[in-house]
Amino acid sequence: AQRELVRRERLAAVGELSASVAHEVRNPLAVIANSVAALLRLSRPEANSTTWELLGVMGEEVQRLDLLVNGLLDFARPLSPRLLSQPLAPVVEGALESALRSGVRPGPLEVTRALDPELPEAPLDAQLLHRALSNLFLNALQAMPQGGALRVELGRTEAREGPPQALISITDTGTGISPEVMRRLFEPFFTTKALGTGLGLAIVRGIIEAHHGQVAVQSTPGQGTTFTVRLPLEPAPPRARPRA
Ligand code: ADP
Repeated sequence: AQRELVRRERLAAVGELSASVAHEVRNPLAVIANSVAALLRLSRPEANSTTWELLGVMGEEVQRLDLLVNGLLDFARPLSPRLLSQPLAPVVEGALESALRSGVRPGPLEVTRALDPELPEAPLDAQLLHRALSNLFLNALQAMPQGGALRVELGRTEAREGPPQALISITDTGTGISPEVMRRLFEPFFTTKALGTGLGLAIVRGIIEAHHGQVAVQSTPGQGTTFTVRLPLEPAPPRARPRA
């Protein structure tokens, strides 16, 4: 419990600092991005290839910074979910669709869905959950640069497992996760990707915990990974308030 508290406090501090830095960096970055784009339009590639190349490099690096700044702002945004009872399947579908449309283009991809149509509504913030699930789908796609199979399941826990929970599982046949990476998976800024921010899973965890749910991972290196999200199907009991 003590370690958990330290983790939360550290996250809050990182979040606050990130937000103010990201905010200050965003506007100058936009000016640089626009200037680079304008210079690229003005200079002719064949006339001065060094200038052209360097501008290209600048453009790419600016894009990388832009990803980071937006990731930071996303990560630092305070999570105050509005949990409204609604069906989960459309949120899962929507997140999958937006990840598939995102421009991450792995090789041949086979997508299968098994979404329980009988699932009752769950208290959730559709926008936040969309963000969390699309991060998981994006990671799955990025883990399969050569293509592969993506499977999405939506169901519920067995009655004997305690209070009813929805189960969302996202399985890819990608690179899998080594034990060293597994240990640091949810740490903010931990990434193995050239263009990664390492904020995706930290954001996912924050959002799922704000829903009183849990997220778990199972992976076999070289074979693939399954992320499982559990979300309560019933509203959390109101917290006992000390009497005035
Ligand atoms: P980012 O995607 O920016 O790297 P994340 O926090 O989303 O940040 O992920 C952290 C790291 O976890 C990734 O860099 C990757 O190494 C690993 N990872 C996450 N999801 C998967 C997955 N489905 N398959 C393999 N590795 C994954």
